[in-house]
Amino acid sequence: MTNQELQQWVEEVSLRDFHRPFCHQAVFNQRLKTTGGRYHLTDHHLDFNPQMLSLGAATFEKIILHELCHYHLHLQGQPHNHRDAAFKELLAKVGGLRYAPSLPEAAPKKYFIYQCQACGGLVKRRRQVDVTRFVCGRCRQPLQFKGVEWL
Ligand SMILES: [Zn+2]
Ligand SMILES: [Zn+2]
Repeated sequence: MTNQELQQWVEEVSLRDFHRPFCHQAVFNQRLKTTGGRYHLTDHHLDFNPQMLSLGAATFEKIILHELCHYHLHLQGQPHNHRDAAFKELLAKVGGLRYAPSLPEAAPKKYFIYQCQACGGLVKRRRQVDVTRFVCGRCRQPLQFKGVEWL
């Protein structure tokens, strides 16, 4: 998804659920790690975490709703922080997410580790290999099974 598509999406959600236009910029920010999005008080633009897209459009839209709550309340001069009643009310009304959802962590993968008996080089394989036939790629010497690692 491009920044332009994101911009359009935010504008649509704003009109549909807040009945107000979104007149500033919405951009993806690769540096956001665990936050879903961020509203900037100074220039009123919104940042969104592109990784959150992996959680599906419905969830991402709830993050858009959350950021738009900050945006619209702030521009109307109303309390716009998470703890403010006005924020909580508006968030509940539009059905935004209260907290950024956690991203699925990449599951560690099992590797079989072999070591060359001649050069000491390590070989990692996703599957167990037959050490009577498998040799070191560098020196063609036999390999020895060292153990299993989760990486
Ligand atoms: Zn927030
Ligand atoms: Zn070797």
